[in-house]
Amino acid sequence: MTTPTPKLDLLGLSQSGWQALLTEIGEKPYRAKQIMKWLHHRSVDDFDAMTDISKPLRAYLATHGEFNQPEIISERVSKDGTIKWLLKARSGSAIETVYIPESGRGTLCVSSQVGCVLDCTFCATGKQGFNSNLLAGEIVGQVRMAERRLADRMKDRERAVTNVVLMGMGEPLLNIDAVLPAISIMMDDLGYGISKRKVTVSTAGVVPGIWRLKEETDVSLAISLHAPNDELRNLLVPLNRRYNIETLLEACRSYAVNLGEKRTVTIEYTLIDGMNDQPQHASELITLLRTLPCKINLIPFNPFPGSEFKRPKAARVRSFQEQLVAAGYSAMVRTTRGDDIDAACGQLAGQVEDRTKRNARYRKQWAARGLIAASNEAPQGQGVPSCSA
Ligand code: SAH
Repeated sequence: MTTPTPKLDLLGLSQSGWQALLTEIGEKPYRAKQIMKWLHHRSVDDFDAMTDISKPLRAYLATHGEFNQPEIISERVSKDGTIKWLLKARSGSAIETVYIPESGRGTLCVSSQVGCVLDCTFCATGKQGFNSNLLAGEIVGQVRMAERRLADRMKDRERAVTNVVLMGMGEPLLNIDAVLPAISIMMDDLGYGISKRKVTVSTAGVVPGIWRLKEETDVSLAISLHAPNDELRNLLVPLNRRYNIETLLEACRSYAVNLGEKRTVTIEYTLIDGMNDQPQHASELITLLRTLPCKINLIPFNPFPGSEFKRPKAARVRSFQEQLVAAGYSAMVRTTRGDDIDAACGQLAGQVEDRTKRNARYRKQWAARGLIAASNEAPQGQGVPSCSA
């Protein structure tokens, strides 16, 4: 029995991907421009509308391709204007995408996987388990969906989405083969024209992924650090057992060179009451980050049902920040947005059907490739619950 050839993921083909495909099928590579404009600028879903494309090419795309545009299941608007969409992925499970409007900009927080395998202790996504990787088209499709939904709101600028952060559900660097074309389309003028500074990949610390990202692109990078020493980080981010802090910072220092003089890596630090928010943690962090050009984002923990952690008091958050600032760091406290609709960092749970067997298979593959710790090093469930988002 032969496995059917997968269909072309039309929304997930980057400009170079289109050019290679068109050349392969005997078409002119410049048609890539026409097709991408139909797909991403005019947001067309119907091949018949692509009037400057020859009929045979349209027929080829209709037969061999599919859109993979995630469908909207629900849309909730927070009192602060944040919007959260529940979207149906191809796998049948649901992912979440969040739009955060601010004056002069709009940030879209997109998911890269359905569920998450990493099990960070303080994050709702991992509690749902891991279901599947998203295709590049499903990642780009979240930007396309948001642009469509928000088109009528835009008066002062052309596009609603000015910034994209891969901080939704999942670990982007465990799905890097889809993430790379997706971010290329986000940055391409024939796609969404977002500058590389405004596209941020956030990782819990998949070190080989950071090295690969550095080879391929120079988008902004955020590291979910959350602890200033390995002992504590092993508890909060079990992936640390595979890649310790020093290995991670070495990759970050190298990536920082990639960013040039004006840009730095962002360090994300979720402040959890009594866990990692004490003055000695700030002191350790100050010493640890001396050798890395970075800015620090402090995220007060966002509670979700079933989590045993608490958000520190505002005064504690402020004094942690002040300690970092006094030591010369740029440290911002990230304002919580959309928490009334469970759209804040770490609250994205989607509706993930955890395919335990598939989950185990992926875990095994990733562990074999050395990307995550083998399961005996990073126990599941009890005691070490889950992360990402
Ligand atoms: N897997 C990637 C992408 C998820 S990003 C990563 O770990 O970076 C989402 C960010 O929100 C991460 O920094 C994550 O650690 C943080 N976060 C997760 N749960 C949180 C919670 N309950 N409260 C505040 N921040 C949280």
